[in-house]
Amino acid sequence: MNKDFNLDTLVRENIKAMSAYSSARDEFTDFEDDMVFLDANENPFETKVNRYPDPQQLNLKTQLSSVKRVPINQILLGNGSDEVLDLIFRAFCEPNRDNIITLPPTYGMYKVLANTNAIENKEVLLVDDFQLDVNAILAEVDANTKLIFICSPNNPTGNLIASKAIETILSSFNGIIVIDEAYIDFAEAESWTTRLQEFQNLIVTQTLSKAYGMAGIRLGMCFASKEIISILNKIKPPYNVNVLTQQVALKRILEEENVQLEITKLISEREKLMNQLNTINFINHSYKTDANFILVKVDDANKRYKQLIENGIVIRNRSTQPLCENTLRFTVGTASENEKLITTLKSISKS
Ligand SMILES: *Cc1c(COP(=O)(O)O)cnc(C)c1O
Repeated sequence: MNKDFNLDTLVRENIKAMSAYSSARDEFTDFEDDMVFLDANENPFETKVNRYPDPQQLNLKTQLSSVKRVPINQILLGNGSDEVLDLIFRAFCEPNRDNIITLPPTYGMYKVLANTNAIENKEVLLVDDFQLDVNAILAEVDANTKLIFICSPNNPTGNLIASKAIETILSSFNGIIVIDEAYIDFAEAESWTTRLQEFQNLIVTQTLSKAYGMAGIRLGMCFASKEIISILNKIKPPYNVNVLTQQVALKRILEEENVQLEITKLISEREKLMNQLNTINFINHSYKTDANFILVKVDDANKRYKQLIENGIVIRNRSTQPLCENTLRFTVGTASENEKLITTLKSISKS
């Protein structure tokens, strides 16, 4: 609980004053097969995609609501979580006045979005084991601090952020805390969506891009109080989730058991890969991970990165990130891809 939280004081004045664009499909939502639709200037000839998508994605949200155990009016969908994050900026952060807090080393998009929205990005580095320095974070908060971004499991480090630290921030910060759970399906921990009733200042984002294997369709999910969701709904582009994405996502969500099987496989591949990485002599450390990637510290990241590329393997060199000197990030692939990675690492370790 955070008794001092007041959503009304956080929303930008122009957003508060506006009403949403009302699209043809918003005004008339009662789809029946024998209706004649002459309201949206669509081409009537059938192409399977000649009609505008449902702006509220009701079928998809209904299914997601049951899988994620969050009521429909507490869900907003976007064109990837990147769009969802941008909507959050535009709803709450007044350009050239407000600021946000991010916790590097972390996902690069928060900073990019702060820059595109002309919002100051205050950075507070993670500390031991890539956990939060709660006092340092709270000390950075000022009257214009609107958002704090917490990525858990964190990218690129892979670790979950301790819940005690997050709870402290949720109960002491009167702005909005965004918990980015892009990798939560690979983690041992419960999602923070289970705490939405308790914390009115909490937004949780997830995505179909990672565990659900659908990076190509661009579907991001946002879970929050119905008040926050209705503000974001007001400013989202009406047709931000296209017809094909809604169809394919729904099909995938209905096969939830297959998704869970793949996740189980990837986690077991991750453990296997982790053990093998620890036998490579130029890998000094591999960090504990709750995601589908492993961050390792090596002798010379640039050299090892180049050698892997020469052998046809593309990974991410994270060395320019704070606290990540000489680190490489490996995504967990299929069993044969991981074997190829290990074989290659072994052979270059001899050269
Ligand atoms: C990959 C990733 C996302 C996913 O973004 P989409 O736009 O949904 O593909 C979000 N947050 C983090 C931390 C990520 O690593």
